[in-house]
Amino acid sequence: MSSSAATRGRRSSAVAALLLAAAALAGIPAGSARAAEFDGARAMSWLERQCALGPRIPGTAGHAALQTAIVEHARSLGLAVHRLPFERPHPYEQRTLKLTNLVILAGRGDGPRLWLGAHYDTRPFCDRDPDPARAARPLTGANDGASGTAVLLHLAELMAAEPPPRPVALIFFDGEDLGRAADLDGFCLGSRWLADHWNDFGAPLAGPQPVGLIVLDMVGDRDLAIPQEGYSLALAGEWTRTVFERAESLGLTAFVQAPGPTVFDDHVPFLRRGLPAVDLIDFDYPAWHTAADVPAACAPASLEQVGALVWDLIRRPPG
Ligand SMILES: [Zn+2]
Repeated sequence: MSSSAATRGRRSSAVAALLLAAAALAGIPAGSARAAEFDGARAMSWLERQCALGPRIPGTAGHAALQTAIVEHARSLGLAVHRLPFERPHPYEQRTLKLTNLVILAGRGDGPRLWLGAHYDTRPFCDRDPDPARAARPLTGANDGASGTAVLLHLAELMAAEPPPRPVALIFFDGEDLGRAADLDGFCLGSRWLADHWNDFGAPLAGPQPVGLIVLDMVGDRDLAIPQEGYSLALAGEWTRTVFERAESLGLTAFVQAPGPTVFDDHVPFLRRGLPAVDLIDFDYPAWHTAADVPAACAPASLEQVGALVWDLIRRPPG
């Protein structure tokens, strides 16, 4: 952490103390004053709760349970939530896949929305695991799936306590990780569908073009370093730099202002439609698509860096 961030930390704890004192005077539970900061431990508990449901492969009980949990979470917070169901042919089996993107809305006004996305499904196999027995098992998906979703679920809590100045959509993509290695057509089914249909219906996403989309994927690695993903930089350079410059101004050292790998992910279908979209991803993760992608490979401090950046972009929208 840089010295400027340490100074800011001391100042914010002094502000928090004042808020706590004010809350006590007003008879407000003290916890509500602290709710304004992104809490990595809270996000980590959401990551662990998802993994405890078992694999979240479309069509399984774990997937259905997580879908219900996301919807009930939003409703319990008083936030609008929409299920966007659709069907796709299974990429490798003679059957139809029933998939559902979920959208939680928050914020005020009817201006352009900030879109934040993460995939909530997990991969049916650990195909990069060197042990053949383990490779056939479903992925736990602590980092690959649960990490981005966990950040969004905690952001919903923060936005319910402190409504953002501009509209925000949290988008939970389905069917991201069904593809076989090197077969791009099998990946990103939910984001492809949404990129084709988002403006077709009156709600919840129709309206002015979004300010931009930020996709969170594999953001929980204990050893987190997020460079500027290749498609994002090439096709939405201005938006990508805006997001990374904010991270630098906040002293968030997990973000690296240098080009990183090019990763086909849920942002690509939107980039192809001309929408500004950036993928925040640390692809240097040895447990990727192996049985080692478990909560112990992730850390609250990593989720907190990503959450702090996005929460700041929500509270102080760019542009
Ligand atoms: Zn994956």
